Amino acid sequence: MYTASDPTLKPEKDTEGYRDKLNTINEEGKRKWIYPKKPKGRFYNWRTWFSWLLLGLMFGGPFVKVNDQPILLLNVLERKFIIFGLAFWPQDFHLVVLALLCLVLFIVLFTAIFGRIWCGWACPQTIFMEMVFRKIEYLIEGDFNEQRKLDSEPWNSRKVFKKSLKLGIFYILSFVIANTFLAYIIGIDELWKIINDPIQEHLTGFIAINLFTFVFFMVFARFREQACQIVCPYGRFQSVLVDNNTIAVTYDFKRGESRAKLSARKGQDDKQFGDCIDCGLCVRVCPAGIDIRNGIQLECIQCTACIDACDSVMDSINKPRGLIRYTSYNGVTEGYKMKSNWRTYAYSAVLVVLLTIFFTLLLTRSDTETTFLRQRGTLHITLENGDIGNLYTYKIVNKTFREQPYELRVIDPPTANLQYVEAIKPLAPQSVFDGRVIISLKPEQLQGSSTPIRVGVFIHGKQVEDIKSSLLGPGNTR
Ligand code: SF4
Ligand code: SF4
Repeated sequence: MYTASDPTLKPEKDTEGYRDKLNTINEEGKRKWIYPKKPKGRFYNWRTWFSWLLLGLMFGGPFVKVNDQPILLLNVLERKFIIFGLAFWPQDFHLVVLALLCLVLFIVLFTAIFGRIWCGWACPQTIFMEMVFRKIEYLIEGDFNEQRKLDSEPWNSRKVFKKSLKLGIFYILSFVIANTFLAYIIGIDELWKIINDPIQEHLTGFIAINLFTFVFFMVFARFREQACQIVCPYGRFQSVLVDNNTIAVTYDFKRGESRAKLSARKGQDDKQFGDCIDCGLCVRVCPAGIDIRNGIQLECIQCTACIDACDSVMDSINKPRGLIRYTSYNGVTEGYKMKSNWRTYAYSAVLVVLLTIFFTLLLTRSDTETTFLRQRGTLHITLENGDIGNLYTYKIVNKTFREQPYELRVIDPPTANLQYVEAIKPLAPQSVFDGRVIISLKPEQLQGSSTPIRVGVFIHGKQVEDIKSSLLGPGNTR
């Protein structure tokens, strides 16, 4: 990012005009199709290997089970969430809020230090677009020049064949992605039913699969980089998240300027020029259609294609690699690699505190959650034997994947009597039971108008919860 206050560091040409427009939109406001040159180089190879790993994890995820449960299930429709085999209920909402807070802070911290490294290396949009769909496109239609030529050709049998083949494969892949996406929402078992049963039995699921397929197809076949530039909110937050110490794919303008083509250098003292030979290769490989030499830009997804391109140019002219590299603005101007500041320390401290709270709550989370309340609008009742009783309602949530034989007992005072209004039965896995009990005491055991009581929830004789309440006696008008 060039600063107006530091004119000596500005490139020779005025390149500020790029800030006023998107490179993918022309003067008439129409879409400008990007034909990026096929990248190659060490970063591209590393990203390819890493993307295979991520794709393997993503497509394999729905088949992996922990305790016979999916490793990840985010069923927002039925409010059923399973993460690493642990079931989360709406009652665990505070954990979800904390987890989201940690995630947001982690993203802020990570971005402040490493910029948009996520976008280039791990974002599903980039992985699918650059590592799957774009590779297929290169395979079928050739490199950027051949693609451009094919698009400008009138429709002929060769063009129809190539386009149909490409779009057909895109559609099948979108269908697979849609199914995987749905498997994370409803679970692989439910998905199998939708696939195998007659359509009319799962009409909603069938519509959902086709809708997701169509959306994915349109995103990867047509919408492409616009998803990052127009839809994704993360890119738009960059200006407030990054600073001059943030690591990003950066053009070393101190080394590169003043740029000049090789032809312009002939017969001149090479020392007066920078290392950039203005070949434009870094721009041609860019899937976002930008010129990284203008500095950090919202559109840049940090895909590293320009690093590889420029490194190959530097190799060919016997200059050191790294004219475009991972560094920060201050790294370029002051020559260091990485520097933390008070902001990163503050974010880190808050993140550590939040993570500590989150994991403490997670590890101490109970498998049972009981709500126990006196029946609304009731006071005491006098039973046939003269005891004084109160009517209570309770709700037990069995968060486990096992059937659990729950039992309620009064722990204090031990002489209190507990009668179930509805018989309590073993509770099915992942289910809720609503019931009522009457708890009573002999009149002489009452401690005034309100006697404190403690009720325990037991499974196989082992207490799993301790609930405090009170028993109202005569004279209490609450
Ligand atoms: S500028 Fe470089 S890193 Fe950024 S999107 Fe373009 S090629 Fe990728
Ligand atoms: S690839 Fe390197 S040398 Fe070529 S224009 Fe880009 S920065 Fe300059």
